[in-house]
Amino acid sequence: MKKLISLILCVVMLCCAASPAAAADGGCQCGFSPIIYVGPLGCTPIVRDAGTADEQTLWKLDTKFLLANLKDVLPQLTKALLTRNSQQLGDALVTFVYACFGDLALDSEGRSKANVTTPELNVPQGSTHGPDSDYYFDYDFRLDPYEHAQRLHEFIAQVKALTGHDSVKLKCSSMGGVVLSAYLEQYGYDGIDVIICRCGPLWGTAVAGEAFTGRIELNATALARYGEDAIPFLETGFADDFIEGTLYALLGALKAAGVIDGLCALGDRLIKDVGEQVFREALIPIFGTLPGIWAFVPEEYFHEAVAFMQLPAQGGLHDKIFAYRTAMANIAANLTAAKNSGVKVCLICGYNVQRTPLITLWRSTSDGTVDTKYASLGATCGNTKEPLSEDYVNALADRTYLSPDHMIDASTCALPDCTWFVRDWLHCNGNAGIDELFELVMTGDEVSVTAFEQFPQFLEADDDADTVTPVTGAPNAWLRLKASPSWLNLIRFLFSFLRSLLTR
Ligand SMILES: [Zn+2]
Repeated sequence: MKKLISLILCVVMLCCAASPAAAADGGCQCGFSPIIYVGPLGCTPIVRDAGTADEQTLWKLDTKFLLANLKDVLPQLTKALLTRNSQQLGDALVTFVYACFGDLALDSEGRSKANVTTPELNVPQGSTHGPDSDYYFDYDFRLDPYEHAQRLHEFIAQVKALTGHDSVKLKCSSMGGVVLSAYLEQYGYDGIDVIICRCGPLWGTAVAGEAFTGRIELNATALARYGEDAIPFLETGFADDFIEGTLYALLGALKAAGVIDGLCALGDRLIKDVGEQVFREALIPIFGTLPGIWAFVPEEYFHEAVAFMQLPAQGGLHDKIFAYRTAMANIAANLTAAKNSGVKVCLICGYNVQRTPLITLWRSTSDGTVDTKYASLGATCGNTKEPLSEDYVNALADRTYLSPDHMIDASTCALPDCTWFVRDWLHCNGNAGIDELFELVMTGDEVSVTAFEQFPQFLEADDDADTVTPVTGAPNAWLRLKASPSWLNLIRFLFSFLRSLLTR
């Protein structure tokens, strides 16, 4: 009998070791802890009156809903424009903004309206895990990041129980970096073995800082460049390359003909006429109540923003917005502590993409959305399309962390050894080369900018080829065309050639 029991025990133990299905009891032996993907802003729909006949998705934006609202104010809008009545124009715009976004506003405690919800939030299910699968953590972007941190904490515990691992990997995209900041501040890094943060506004983004302090300006050069930089990422599904190249040429021609400058001047006049009213009556009462958006405001703008956005001096909403400042202030120290205790950390950010043209700080280099200096926790950067000044470069005693194109000095980052920079990489755009880097980060013994030969600190994204290659020097349209001969790259080359002739 004893022998039989021993035999059965042996068989059971062998089964446990071999089968991941037995994970929940004995722990999974696959050697790869599960990945939790912390999504970006808008990762789950925000819905009004979910489950009723009046159900309406408020976010992501529903074009039909926007157009219906626009139709309602169109007569008023047209009349105002024809008679140049800026008061009436302002009223029409405020009505329109309220109809589209009004129900997203939170109350003075920072809570959503009861009928505005996120009905599709994920709950971890199944035990499948590995390099090619992840558990998707989504959240209502409007709310206090600490609420997401608390949910993420429960989510992590559930994933551990499902998979039989005692640690997880966090892969955060864009606003996922805000959730990460709140999480590390509240719960630390216990039970996390890898942290990847892709284009995260860890120290905010200038767009939010400038918008929340009322600094709105249209700039023709920025608008044209923004279009140029976004064009390569268009997915028209048909003759992509030809359409991209043609649009690029068209945009260049419009800029040269002064059309874009004219449009900007018109836009600027509009902003001057009705901007103050739209801010006061619509943007502040709606977006000023969202702690999630406040989390994007960089520290240097914050106190001015509190005054400009007329944030109440106390109450739940005020407390939530202020509480996140601690998470933002401590993110560099929290990540450093995690790294020093063995967590593998990879921060990766884009640069040299023209940012949103709507703000006065349009020169700040970025991935088009998040400033490189904020995503990298402190890199010193040249302006978009420009290198650092010669004086700055010459004064550097050590050039180990200087990019070969002299646009970025990573030595001033919080974590210079595990922060990567990708030139011409649009915010969070999918790229197979970058995915390959992530896989190395998740499986490698050592993670640093010198650990992987094909992925040094400074990389250049090629969207057409879906790759990244090491940066070797200043951007060069001819070399790009030679490496990746396409219609778009030919047009780009011709334009840069013409530009160099004109500015000679
Ligand atoms: Zn496993």
